[in-house]
Amino acid sequence: MKIPAEPKVILRSCRDYDPERIRTIIREGLEELGLRPFGRTLVKPNLVAAGPLFPYAYTRPEFGEGVLRALQDVGGSSMTELAAGERCGITVPTRVAFRESGWDAMLKKIDVKKYHFEEEQQVEIPLSHKDRLRDYLFTPEPVARADFFVNCPKFKAHPWTTVTFSLKAYIGIQDDRHRLIDHDHKLNEKIADLQHIIQPSFIAIDAITAGEGRMLTPTPFPLGMIIMGNSQVAFDAVCCSIIGVDPMTVDHIRLAAQHGFGSTDLSKIKITGDVSLEEAKQRAKGFKVGLIRVEKYFEGTNISAYAGPPPDSEAGDYCWGGCPGAIEEAIEILRVFDKETDKKLTRMHVVFGKYEGGIDAKPGEKVIFIGDCADWKGQLHGKPVAIESLYKDRSSLDPHVATSQDIFAKLASAKAKLAGDVVRLEGCPVSVAEQVLALVAVAPGVKNPYLDRSNMLTFTRAYLGWKARVTLNKLQRRRYQQNGSFGSRGQAAPELA
Ligand code: SF4
Repeated sequence: MKIPAEPKVILRSCRDYDPERIRTIIREGLEELGLRPFGRTLVKPNLVAAGPLFPYAYTRPEFGEGVLRALQDVGGSSMTELAAGERCGITVPTRVAFRESGWDAMLKKIDVKKYHFEEEQQVEIPLSHKDRLRDYLFTPEPVARADFFVNCPKFKAHPWTTVTFSLKAYIGIQDDRHRLIDHDHKLNEKIADLQHIIQPSFIAIDAITAGEGRMLTPTPFPLGMIIMGNSQVAFDAVCCSIIGVDPMTVDHIRLAAQHGFGSTDLSKIKITGDVSLEEAKQRAKGFKVGLIRVEKYFEGTNISAYAGPPPDSEAGDYCWGGCPGAIEEAIEILRVFDKETDKKLTRMHVVFGKYEGGIDAKPGEKVIFIGDCADWKGQLHGKPVAIESLYKDRSSLDPHVATSQDIFAKLASAKAKLAGDVVRLEGCPVSVAEQVLALVAVAPGVKNPYLDRSNMLTFTRAYLGWKARVTLNKLQRRRYQQNGSFGSRGQAAPELA
């Protein structure tokens, strides 16, 4: 992986989602950077969640259309394949995100192929760098084999990692079962490790309408820009600078720089375009990031939150990448779906990590210990209670045998798991989807977005399509095993969905 010695970031003004204007800007960006797409060219948008609940969470299809058409303009016949691929979040089939975001219709219109990453062959990529979390990572075959990889994230804040620009969007190059491994207090290290799978040849971020405060349900922020670059760390450093954040305070950016993926030193980055850095900063004035501890987040609501440290002593006093941030996203989804959510929630207490303080739960108020590392002793409702940590060291987790979470199974079991005044939700992490279901299960009357009738048909169809494709993959697996090696990169072998 070659990191440009002289990274460049281009700041362009673009106030509207006009695909033709975006196409021109991207084409000019590719030409200025001297880039010509070739071979298997893969575009990865951020489609973490899409649809009416998440209007500002994803890279808009008009943006994608502009990027894909510009790649066609510049790459032409030197591309053997042009495709878009993604794994969305919150345990929803990626088919739903492609459809709800409008990317499906757009790709059909311009005749570009798509990949739902969780439905593709998963390829094992060996890692050998110092301080890695694991000796290998899995990624979908289209990512592993891409010749010209294009990252098209959305310019957003993030409640666990401060920002989600180009580096952080790499969480979508893993399917759920691999993505959720190390998605805890080591999340920033995981993001840095993911950089070793592939580096983008070209980055173009949708900063026309940015998202502030959160990542799934952000507040729209009209930044009116397209930012392009050829070096992932340099790119994120400039984006940070635009919103007044020191990139070295964002752990995954600092770690990726330490891993050799570029510099955060603005004096070493060439910044060009029709918007100066100063003007970009003016446009971004007041942009809010989302890093708020859970105790503070729920102040003034019917939820009291308590958080102790996660298990590893080196990880500090809070699990920024796991359960506490997930409940913040969960409550925001419910608030968007049901405006009366806060009124309907009964008094409850949520506890994370090895918390050592008191829990002021009155009779009838539910106490939920969330996550495998929850660990607490004390009196609740007049009785002694001892919650013991179930945390398993990460070295005991084998990604080869990881299984994906089934949202229908979770729907069916959510209520039963939460019966009683003092309950525990197991998992590391307990995902956003599970925490949405948990809050709905304990708060009568709060509407469940997973049971929304207008979405159910799309959701069920997508789910069945996904499972059918996975079954087909299993049949193909036998064929690959009979034929021996799967591919040319590293020692990759097929590990099928
Ligand atoms: S159980 Fe949750 S809070 Fe604890 S380490 Fe895992 S992700 Fe973090």
